[in-house]
Amino acid sequence: MSKFKLGFGLMRLPRLADGQTIDVEQTAKMADMFLEAGGTYFDTAYVYQGSEDAIRKALVERHPRDSYTLASKLMANDSVDVETAKNEINISLERTGAGYFDYYLLHALQRSNYKFYEEWGLWDYVKELKAEGKIKHYGFSFHGDPELLEELLTAHPDVEFVQLQINYADWENPGVNSRKNLEICRAHGKLVTVMEPVKGGILADPIDSVKAILDAENNGSYASWALRFVASQEGLLTVLSGMSSVEQMADNLSFMKDFKPLNDHEQEVIKACQRALDADQSIPCTACHYCTEGCPMNIPIPEIFAVENRKKGSPEFRTKREYTIVTTGRGKASDCIQCGQCEAACPQHLPIIELLEKCRALE
Ligand code: SF4
Ligand code: SF4
Repeated sequence: MSKFKLGFGLMRLPRLADGQTIDVEQTAKMADMFLEAGGTYFDTAYVYQGSEDAIRKALVERHPRDSYTLASKLMANDSVDVETAKNEINISLERTGAGYFDYYLLHALQRSNYKFYEEWGLWDYVKELKAEGKIKHYGFSFHGDPELLEELLTAHPDVEFVQLQINYADWENPGVNSRKNLEICRAHGKLVTVMEPVKGGILADPIDSVKAILDAENNGSYASWALRFVASQEGLLTVLSGMSSVEQMADNLSFMKDFKPLNDHEQEVIKACQRALDADQSIPCTACHYCTEGCPMNIPIPEIFAVENRKKGSPEFRTKREYTIVTTGRGKASDCIQCGQCEAACPQHLPIIELLEKCRALE
């Protein structure tokens, strides 16, 4: 197993001033820095908008194919049919120009969608892809409960690795189960790739009580504590950090290049941060946007939650203005028709409908 544990997650790539278009030039610089430091693992997905195209330009067309490994993913849900799902790899290969994927994952399995993967024969399909040489290794990313993980690993013992959401905030969170799920993978002898080690950026800019604990240590960025906590765990293939700028790449490399696990004192510091998070009432949304795609009312759910989380300590007029900005031309919290589509899609299992009811007070 490589000593270099940082992986480059390609879900939150830098954007140009329009906020939409991926900044390929900056992405290329980040890729160069990452390879130069000894990194190899890049992780994209069919559903990460623009990411596969961007990585072709920033990486595949600029570096020898054997100097990096590339992962992508197949998403199955009720918005596609079996043929469309099976064809995703061909589109992903065309977009990336990579020729093959080193790692290929069935994407975001959880209670609401895992039946599609079973009933459509997608576990056998990835084995066929491997035999054809389109992929080297196959695994799955997982957002479900420990009982489902146990069931899947027992039913599919050939799977080569599992991608889990692991971070210190979700270590004992019953909606995510970082610790329990990691232990189950270890018991089945599966290597783990970690996603969301910084919880969608939340732990890079944590709540004030956590900042106060980490500031007192005066030892590295907030993100460094989150990543080092995760990388200190046993049985990992890589820790994916979804970096969005050259600065974030430089910061991540500064402590992950010659990685040192947390010592006993630092583990205690993390426990204090976990207690501070337990006492906090913020909505733990990672801004992944999986919920918004199918919302019939076009409600900007993560943006509304962000305004709600920021309102503490902000003057009311500012909060109202922020709310107006994020909802202009889109649905408001009060437009929710409670269809439940978003809750089925949310990997954090947030009670979105109930939370939006609370957010109506922002209007
Ligand atoms: S429950 Fe509300 S927020 Fe969720 S998808 Fe339906 S309308 Fe949108
Ligand atoms: S509410 Fe859930 S699905 Fe939507 S952005 Fe937040 S974490 Fe992602």
